[in-house]
Amino acid sequence: MSDIIRLTAADLAEKLSEGEISSVEATQAHLDRIAEVDGDVHAFLHVSDHALEAAEAVDRRRAAGEELGPVAGVPLAIKDVLVTTDMPSTSGSRILEGYMSPFDATVVARARAAGLVPLGKTNMDEFAMGSSTEHSAYGPTRNPWDLDRIPGGSGGGSAAAVAAFEAPLALGSDTGGSIRQPAHVTGTVGVKPTYGGVSRYGAIALASSLDQIGPVTRTVLDSALLHDVVGGHDPHDATSLADAWPSFAAAAREGARGDVLKGLRVGVVKELPDSGFQPGVAESFRAALETLEAQGAEIVEVSAPHFEYAVAAYYLILPAEASSNLAKFDSVRFGMRVDVPGGTVEDVMSATRDAGFGPEVKRRIILGTYALSAGYYDAYYGSAQKVRTLIQQDFARAFADVDVIATPTAPTTAFRIGEKIDDPLSMYLNDLTTIPANLAGVPGISIPSGLASDDGLPTGIQFLAPAREDVRLYRVGAALEALLVDAWGGPLLDRAPRLGGSLLEGGAR
Ligand code: GLN
Repeated sequence: MSDIIRLTAADLAEKLSEGEISSVEATQAHLDRIAEVDGDVHAFLHVSDHALEAAEAVDRRRAAGEELGPVAGVPLAIKDVLVTTDMPSTSGSRILEGYMSPFDATVVARARAAGLVPLGKTNMDEFAMGSSTEHSAYGPTRNPWDLDRIPGGSGGGSAAAVAAFEAPLALGSDTGGSIRQPAHVTGTVGVKPTYGGVSRYGAIALASSLDQIGPVTRTVLDSALLHDVVGGHDPHDATSLADAWPSFAAAAREGARGDVLKGLRVGVVKELPDSGFQPGVAESFRAALETLEAQGAEIVEVSAPHFEYAVAAYYLILPAEASSNLAKFDSVRFGMRVDVPGGTVEDVMSATRDAGFGPEVKRRIILGTYALSAGYYDAYYGSAQKVRTLIQQDFARAFADVDVIATPTAPTTAFRIGEKIDDPLSMYLNDLTTIPANLAGVPGISIPSGLASDDGLPTGIQFLAPAREDVRLYRVGAALEALLVDAWGGPLLDRAPRLGGSLLEGGAR
């Protein structure tokens, strides 16, 4: 495996700025890696024809002595939920097959302006509905740690690309955990920013009150660097916060260096049932807490009595919003059209949506329209919104006593492809610990906490902070990461065993 692709984005950026490596070389190394392993991993739906061109442009600007941003020349993978002018944007759906957007999502435009080099578009569950990438209309992505297992979802493509060294940086979207849970099962880092902290303009909407765009990387600092590039106010997104954000990269560097853990109050939710977690996941979580405690952090039990209703509330609010957002795929405005000779406009619409949407999308549209229908609105959608308020109050009370809250990122390690696909409820329950953050709008980070002792697969710890305090996540995440990587004698991904045909040790299986 080429050494270039093993570099973190931060290290690669440094070598680029020192002229040790060109962006063309870095980009070519990643394109070669994609060619080598993506037939097995299937992290990408589309590989860019313009990557080398973009890399050349950065190299030229650098050679001309232009002042470039801190990550200029570093390659980037982009979840297919984000629209791009030079590559198709399908959101993992047949209904948008080949769809070309007339504009770039704000985060993509910002990435390009910062000199990041788009490598391609990554696979995802259709319209970001799922926890395994198995709901993609284009076939599942496989977990590089074990090709028979899921890479998480909905952003399994972005996480797998980063874990398999196909890209140093990736963008994801997180509506109920789609950045954090894939990070957890692939041994990578994922951040869901504060709601409104990163623009959603040009992100194909799933549930507008929950969606956030964020980074997927191999280190906390790399996530911070990418967040610094894509975050901040965007007049095109009415929910975008006007805040001036601090440098997240500076916070990550401070965390990795200093003793930010001394006196830090870390909340652990009393009501999260220990029994609901795979033993190896719970054990790794407790060990990470002990590492924090050994550095002077205080572990405090907090009560969040309404967390247990989060999954139920989410799976009413999300389908309700999704059914409305997806109404625009009407055979007229975007994408696919199935002609019905002699049929009415409704016949065409119905045939198109029947052929264009997969079973999970149909399930949620039906759920959502039912929950919103007259006579049921108060009982379902209205009640779910009340639960959402109670969860927000749980967070407010807890954050009065602690600086951050910690949970295992998800209840289990990567499950097998096919294991939950016919059991939607058990798939939904995988979102137990990630969903509350979306319902409350607070930021969350998942970092690798180790390998579960029972199956040897990666597992993660999630930190949550009050809204607008994303900076805490980078400080605390980088501090714990530094301690764990030290204890492991190197990054977790370097310790990947050859599980079921892992690709991490180089070469094809
Ligand atoms: N697994 C969750 C769902 O299926 C999360 C989706 C997401 O964050 N986009 O809705």
